[in-house]
Amino acid sequence: ATPMSIMVGVGRGAGAGVLIRNAEALERMERVDTLVVDKTGTLTAGRPTVTALLPAPGFDEVELLRLAAAVERGSEHPIGHAIVTAAAARGIALPAVADFHSPTGKGAEGTVEGRRIAIGSAAFLAEAGVAVDGLAQEAERLQQEGATVVFCAADGRLAGAVAVADPVKDTTAPALAALRADGVRIVMLTGDNARTAAAIGQRLGIAEIEAEVSPERKAAVVARLRAEGRVVAMAGDGVNDAPALAAADIGIAMGGGTDVAMESAGVTLLEGDLGGIVRARRLSRATMRNIR
Ligand code: ADP
Ligand code: MG
Repeated sequence: ATPMSIMVGVGRGAGAGVLIRNAEALERMERVDTLVVDKTGTLTAGRPTVTALLPAPGFDEVELLRLAAAVERGSEHPIGHAIVTAAAARGIALPAVADFHSPTGKGAEGTVEGRRIAIGSAAFLAEAGVAVDGLAQEAERLQQEGATVVFCAADGRLAGAVAVADPVKDTTAPALAALRADGVRIVMLTGDNARTAAAIGQRLGIAEIEAEVSPERKAAVVARLRAEGRVVAMAGDGVNDAPALAAADIGIAMGGGTDVAMESAGVTLLEGDLGGIVRARRLSRATMRNIR
């Protein structure tokens, strides 16, 4: 590839909201036949809002939200932001958190007013020995509507569940349609619950979905697809996506996502618009045609 054409391509990309870090990424874009996408923050806006509070017996909505938000104040995760914002909207004063810890793709925990508070997926609470059975049915109903439900425990006892909903970006469906028409296979990988993932997948016509996956598993799936001979682009926004972005032929970060994602990616979509991939493929084709 001649440096000049590549530079022109990279410049045009920037004009179209696509930051291309290196020549390789531009060259490979036209050959991508598989796009692996993260759900939260990639297909969806990544700005979820709290849509339901389900306090367990012995707790009320305000106390549940107060404890959950106190812990989430330390979190970088969009779910954490949603919970803190909901508490602020209700004028709830948040106590300080100590010993904050947030295992990527699972949840967050910390000590609040001397109590150990954990919030995250059902699996995360199960690891701490807390069963979510009492709220499982209600949670299931909300998940089937596409909401993400996280559970909160206080000193090893279930305190309640919080549902957050994250709308699909307007740009997502048209971008996926264009890519599919171009022969690209779409695979969703998400750390979220299977029911929530299926609800979002159905809305977008994505049939290949793997849910409740760890960051390492996301990377392993990308590696397996490559081993099968696919040319794989991976699009994601989170810390949890960084290993998979690095494992792909092309890592694509959502602008506005975490810095870690952008550092692991060869391409950044400035507006977080997956349509940028369609534009980048056109650019890649034009650039490579110029060179050949
Ligand atoms: P995705 O792949 O959809 O971006 P993540 O891997 O970031 O999802 O998170 C997976 C799951 O872990 C979330 O659906 C949620 O249940 C839980 N989780 C992760 N971080 C947090 C947090 N800060 N607070 C509550 N739950 C969390
Ligand atoms: Mg994400």
